[in-house]
Amino acid sequence: MDTKALHTISYGLYVITAKKGEQLNGQIANTVFQITSEPPTLAVSLNKQNLTHEFIRDGGSFAVSVLSKEASLSLIGQFGFKSGREVDKFAGVNYKLTAGGLPYLSDHTLAYLEAQVKQIVDAGSHSIFIGTLTDAAVLLQGEPMTYAYYHQVKRGTTPKTAPTFTAARAEDQPAPTAPKYQCSICNYIYDPAQGDPEHGIAPVTSFADLPDDWTCPICGAGKDAFEKI
Ligand code: FE
Repeated sequence: MDTKALHTISYGLYVITAKKGEQLNGQIANTVFQITSEPPTLAVSLNKQNLTHEFIRDGGSFAVSVLSKEASLSLIGQFGFKSGREVDKFAGVNYKLTAGGLPYLSDHTLAYLEAQVKQIVDAGSHSIFIGTLTDAAVLLQGEPMTYAYYHQVKRGTTPKTAPTFTAARAEDQPAPTAPKYQCSICNYIYDPAQGDPEHGIAPVTSFADLPDDWTCPICGAGKDAFEKI
């Protein structure tokens, strides 16, 4: 069985949000689907360990922000590689509220959707929340971020709690011409050929030449969290 076959499946990239009392939380997910049109019904698969899972289970609704291709790695990192148990996911992030009072991102977001949960399917490590659409709007014209674009162009990686995580991600990279370094926290790979243009690091900058205060563009870890690969 060749599990690489799974890598040929296409996905988008979304921020899933929920609230518990006055507390807001959100996380990145690639597993959002419209599953029926009458009534419009969405499904999302989330890891049971995640705080957003708890908020949706308890609060009974979720919102989806559909990210555009312009969404930054640091925004994705804020929602994808940090836990709402440790940080306020919405600190420094522009957001507004859906009709049901759930947050959605107001920058680099093509549309938002809000759904009321009708069914929760136990899928082992994950739950699949199935909900009917209760509010939605198109915010921006543009191209949606896809999972493939995020990996190939934005140089992102997959957190270990994502349904599509595979440990051998580094092996999928082309043979290095200069040493690459991988973040031990989030698995982001620093490729000297690419640099980190979002943070002012030009292409063809070796890892050793990065400033001492450079941090992982996804999770914010320091240089000492990186290992040569
Ligand atoms: Fe990192």
